[in-house]
Amino acid sequence: MTDSYVFPERWSDLRGRDPADERDRDRLEAELAREVATSHPLSGLRASAIAACSHCDDVIYELPDGGYAVVHLSWPKSAPDRPPWPVHKRVADWAALMSYIDDHEDA
Ligand SMILES: [Zn+2]
Repeated sequence: MTDSYVFPERWSDLRGRDPADERDRDRLEAELAREVATSHPLSGLRASAIAACSHCDDVIYELPDGGYAVVHLSWPKSAPDRPPWPVHKRVADWAALMSYIDDHEDA
C-alpha cells in the first residue's frame, strides 16, 4: 500500500532499488548514526532513510517500531552532535507521516 505512494516533488524518494538510491540511503543512515549521541532519543535505533527534502535537507527515516522520524541533519564537523541536535520529530505511523508531509508542503 505505502510502496505505491508518490512523494511530493520536493522530496526525493529513496526507497528504490537502483544503486544511486542505495548510496543515498547508506550515506544518510551513516550520517544519522554519526550525529546522534548516546543520550539522543534516536540513539541505537535502526533507522532506514526513505526520503529526503531537497528544500530543507530534512530526512525521513523509518523506525523499527513502525513509526518514522523526520530528522534535520546538522552535518557537524565533529560528531556526535550535542542533543537535542540533530533536531527530529517522531511520527507514529504512515497516516501521521502523510499529514506531516502535507503540512511540510505549506511551510
Ligand atoms: Zn523541506
